[in-house]
Amino acid sequence: MTNQSFKPRNAGSLFLVSAPSGAGKSSLVNALLAKIPGIALSISTTTRAPRPGEVNGREYHFTTVEEFLAARERGEFLESAEVHGNFYGTSKKWIEDTMAKGGDVLLEIDWQGARQVREHFPEAVSIFILPPSIQALEDRLHKRGQDSEQTITRRLLGAGAEMAHASEFDFVIINSVFENALDEFCAIVTASRLRFDKQAARCRDIFIQLGIPN
Ligand code: GDP
Ligand code: ADP
Ligand code: 5GP
Repeated sequence: MTNQSFKPRNAGSLFLVSAPSGAGKSSLVNALLAKIPGIALSISTTTRAPRPGEVNGREYHFTTVEEFLAARERGEFLESAEVHGNFYGTSKKWIEDTMAKGGDVLLEIDWQGARQVREHFPEAVSIFILPPSIQALEDRLHKRGQDSEQTITRRLLGAGAEMAHASEFDFVIINSVFENALDEFCAIVTASRLRFDKQAARCRDIFIQLGIPN
């Protein structure tokens, strides 16, 4: 077994997380990042107005429609989509730089964006988060208390269209009891990291020392 037989592989995984607005996607992602180190969260660019408490560069890079369309024209987005009347996009450069370092990357994007990313990264691990019921979704959007009635209505009306694409995803989590959903989310990430090719890349020296063909 020579070193040459080890093809260079990327230890990093790309995770795509989608959900109808209010299903608990951001809460679950933030809790996951606090529990499992080594995952970088992509900060999207959006034309949506910041919610109270949102900070430019932390939740999103907030921008104008004109700037967004110009950046899209320059090819700066890996994917982009219009969701609930606002534009959202994922920085191509940030993803490429972070993936090149071999780290795990997580994107919180809608189904249209997930579809575009899969074309570039077919091996991406995709996870769809469902609420336990439409009533729970409505209650959570109200409980979050950050959107107007009009915005909540628009997001509830869009929920069915988003959920109609759940079957395009590898995994589904029903976010009923938060801690259970979080455990399931962690299990998906942990299992993905243990795939043969990811382990072979991450633990290259051990594989070579043990003479494991790959
Ligand atoms: P939330 O769904 O209540 O968290 O509301 P947001 O305004 O944060 O997100 C609105 C929608 O835009 C969701 O479907 C997100 O998944 C989606 N979204 C956020 N960032 C991106 C992005 O960079 N690209 C794409 N395609 N969708 C995004
Ligand atoms: P999303 O990012 O999918 O729009 P959020 O993470 O903002 O959703 O969650 C929407 C609201 O629902 C928040 O107020 C959050 O605290 C609450 N929430 C999330 N998960 C649960 C759950 N399992 N049970 C009850 N409330 C939840
Ligand atoms: P919100 O405006 O509530 O933060 O997000 C609304 C929706 O936009 C969410 O479902 C979220 O997943 C999606 N979204 C956020 N960022 C992006 C992005 O960069 N690309 C795509 N395609 N969707 C995004």
